[in-house]
Amino acid sequence: MKIGIVGAGFAGLSAAVFALERGWRVEVLDAIGVGGGASGVASGLLHPYPGKLARRSRNADEAMGASQYLLDLASQEMGAPVYRKGIVRKALDAEQAKVFEERALEYPDLKWDGHLHIKSGLTVFSKKYLEGLWRFCRRKGAILRIEKLDKVPRGYDAVILAAGHGMLKLTDLKLNCTKGQILACDLEKPVDVSVIGDGYLGIAEDGYHLGSTYEHDFEDDKPNLEQAKALILPRARRYVEGRIDVTGVKAGIRVCKPGDYYPMSCKVRPGVYALTGFGSRGLLYHALLAKEFIDHAYCSL
Ligand SMILES: Cc1cc2nc3c(=O)[nH]c(=O)nc-3n(C[C@H](O)[C@H](O)[C@H](O)COP(=O)(O)OP(=O)(O)OC[C@H]3O[C@@H](n4cnc5c(N)ncnc54)[C@H](O)[C@@H]3O)c2cc1C
Repeated sequence: MKIGIVGAGFAGLSAAVFALERGWRVEVLDAIGVGGGASGVASGLLHPYPGKLARRSRNADEAMGASQYLLDLASQEMGAPVYRKGIVRKALDAEQAKVFEERALEYPDLKWDGHLHIKSGLTVFSKKYLEGLWRFCRRKGAILRIEKLDKVPRGYDAVILAAGHGMLKLTDLKLNCTKGQILACDLEKPVDVSVIGDGYLGIAEDGYHLGSTYEHDFEDDKPNLEQAKALILPRARRYVEGRIDVTGVKAGIRVCKPGDYYPMSCKVRPGVYALTGFGSRGLLYHALLAKEFIDHAYCSL
């Protein structure tokens, strides 16, 4: 069985890992290379308590477990952890504080002490993680072809399209796109755990990320420093103490199913499948969806 996977982001590379573990031959095709899309700029926050109300995500245990499996595999390839443990959520008002306090009574991986500590939360160093996944794939015989495709490639027993924003050109799937920008920065008062407030402050390999914008009307996927500063910094001042020195800006495009936070895997046509719609929860769901997809494909293809 030889499969072609379009996209070397979280979705494509996780599918590649599970396919290789099944003994399939894998070719990954990407216009730019490993982490060329949204995955390469993601701030790396991974936890199952999103949104204002911090409701626990659907299939949280399975999703966190599958992601942890791949994080450990990538860490082993890289010879060092590709993530850091713990995330803190700061309540923005009394009403949210009350909700967080109640959540902490419901779930054992939460602790409330005036802030909500998500003990199961992780900050993933996205680029390192992707590099670790790719090293595993390469060691298992996968090939990476740098190629911008304008149609679904031929010559494979099956093709998995995991092309993020590029899905719009390769398929007729109805998907919504949101541009996101993050600021790379240094802080006057360092912190040792990622913080979610009005936006978030993520620990990066070499400093911090402040995020993020959610731009529904955008002309391109290019970063715009002044615009990102105007949208992000006023919010960050609500929960980051001391001076913030901005050192750079990055941008990517998130892809969602209309009206849904959850990703999708589906058949596009015989022999061609889609793995997409991860929105801002790519790290939570990529591994679980890819594993379920490959397990199912293994039984039916
Ligand atoms: C600023 C920002 C911050 C984020 N922070 C977080 C976070 O903290 N936590 C979290 O869980 N999620 C976060 N996300 C969301 C996360 O990045 C996405 O959910 C995830 O990256 C989607 O992965 P993917 O593999 O589906 O797509 P992508 O990573 O976009 O991968 C698609 C790949 O396909 C390739 N491609 C596209 N078209 C073609 C073509 N025609 N031919 C060949 N190759 C093609 C691209 O080059 C790319 O490498 C963030 C997103 C943004 C934009």
